Amino acid sequence: MSTVSDIVVLGSANMDLVAYVAKAPQRGETVTGREFRTAPGGKGANQAVAAARAGARVAMIGAVGNDTFGLRLRSALEASGVVTDRLRTAEGPSGTAHIVVDDQGGNAIVVVPGANAGVTSLTARDEEAVRGAGLLLLQLEIPLKAVAAGARLARAHGVRTVLTPAPVRPLPAELLDCVDLLLPNEHEAAALAGVADPREAALALLERVPEVVVTLGEAGSLWAARGAEPVTVPSPRVRAVDTTGAGDTFAGALAVALTEKRPMPEALRWAAAAASLSVQRPGASASMPYRSEIEARYT
Ligand code: ATP
Repeated sequence: MSTVSDIVVLGSANMDLVAYVAKAPQRGETVTGREFRTAPGGKGANQAVAAARAGARVAMIGAVGNDTFGLRLRSALEASGVVTDRLRTAEGPSGTAHIVVDDQGGNAIVVVPGANAGVTSLTARDEEAVRGAGLLLLQLEIPLKAVAAGARLARAHGVRTVLTPAPVRPLPAELLDCVDLLLPNEHEAAALAGVADPREAALALLERVPEVVVTLGEAGSLWAARGAEPVTVPSPRVRAVDTTGAGDTFAGALAVALTEKRPMPEALRWAAAAASLSVQRPGASASMPYRSEIEARYT
């Protein structure tokens, strides 16, 4: 099957395994947890779900393992409308994130990449999908080699590239040279630019990419493009109950708005409307809003 997608996501899929405890164990200690939940996650899959629910035709490139988590990760993507015929099933375990959440809301996380680590290159069919896309969404939870290959291919074919630099790490020029829009949160922006202030960080990052959006939590986002003054776009004021996945919801919805050719300030307000809905509900991908809800919130 050869479908044309508005958005292709090249990235990770993980099963989140979450234990809720009063107090996280110290080294050598065993504690009894209160509750355990599993939830589909991974930044790639989350952004794909966010974009599909926001109304775009989305395909995901990546890999899951040949275990029950893999089956569940695939069906969760499909349930939100993501096309998964380029999501490989690899020998071995799916990616997992082992999360301990304590009663103070603090967390400790171990990510075991599993099948995601095997996504080191693009197949001919993957390349066909990227070439035919309107926009390529990237993050850093699969090997950098594949991220760079995707960005390079997209650039060669005039496909817009948006990179969420998480988990943050130094980025080689061969990747950044092919990124149209860098989308860090304020911590990632500070780490990449070596300066804490988001505006200063964004301006510094503009030396490496043409456009930067720094997400600022409840304060919204900051947009910086070469040759213009940075602009802050607020987020709707809401009572947040769980901000997990807010950044991925924002990224997915922003990608949809951009493929619909909305001007950036409008696209950022639309993405903020989507993310503000997600923080009002528990869960990461489970809390991501559908298009009709975003339209109703967007003003
Ligand atoms: P996370 O890691 O929790 O997924 P992040 O650190 O990647 O998030 P943030 O900058 O915290 O990203 O949030 C992304 C977007 O979500 C913000 O730009 C904003 O639009 C929205 N958002 C986050 N927190 C809130 C909040 N408390 N109220 C309203 N909107 C919020």
